[in-house]
Amino acid sequence: MKLKINENCIGCGACAAVCEDVFELEDGVAHVVGEITDENMDDALAAKEGCPVSAIEEVEE
Ligand code: SF4
Repeated sequence: MKLKINENCIGCGACAAVCEDVFELEDGVAHVVGEITDENMDDALAAKEGCPVSAIEEVEE
């Protein structure tokens, strides 16, 4: 699975707090900085579901 951040991101930091392996805040918005693995997938999906503005999208591979 691959995720990306779309233009809705308001930089709240929730995704990075839930899954620091995958998401990092830079310049006021979130970036995907890590691979989704079996170990962090649950947290990454929780971050996706928890984003208040639906800014985390799944990318077709
Ligand atoms: S939770 Fe959503 S709005 Fe908040 S920093 Fe992450 S992607 Fe951006």
